[in-house]
Amino acid sequence: MSIHLPTPRFCPQCGQTSLKQRDAKKWACQQCQFSYFHNMASTAGALIIVEQELLLVERAINPKKGCWDLPGGFVEYHESLEQGLQRELEEELGLLITSQQLQYFGSYANQYRYNEVLYHTCDAFFICQLSHKPNLHAKDDVASLQWHSLKKLPFNNIAFSSVNQGLNDLVKNRPQQLTNNSH
Ligand SMILES: [Zn+2]
Repeated sequence: MSIHLPTPRFCPQCGQTSLKQRDAKKWACQQCQFSYFHNMASTAGALIIVEQELLLVERAINPKKGCWDLPGGFVEYHESLEQGLQRELEEELGLLITSQQLQYFGSYANQYRYNEVLYHTCDAFFICQLSHKPNLHAKDDVASLQWHSLKKLPFNNIAFSSVNQGLNDLVKNRPQQLTNNSH
């Protein structure tokens, strides 16, 4: 899978048009020692559940503007998955969650195209079961939010394959991971 970078491909170190893609993720200069690895990025998403309803957010930006997504996002440098997710939940929803309220569910490979660059991501999802619906505000890159019955999730309008797989596992393959004991 190639990534799309403008051509000619100038080396950021020596300035010559000698940067070549070597394999799926490695770029190297033919004139100097510069190399760059377009490594997979980590993201974290929350399966926020109250009784039998799941919170989905409508994406306000591309890619997949208008489609349903899990709240969450890219993990920053020096953050754990949980810390990144806690920060994103506060930024997107105004929701404060402790790491003890996050139960690891699973991770899924995904692709995310932004400004013509294709990023490969590993999306990790955490279950967050709450006893009642919190007061939430759609902010940042979230246009709106909606609670959906776990029996009627909008599988025809989910933003990413990773989320689609995760939701499928949640409701069909591993529903036992949901407990009746809310935090
Ligand atoms: Zn160079």
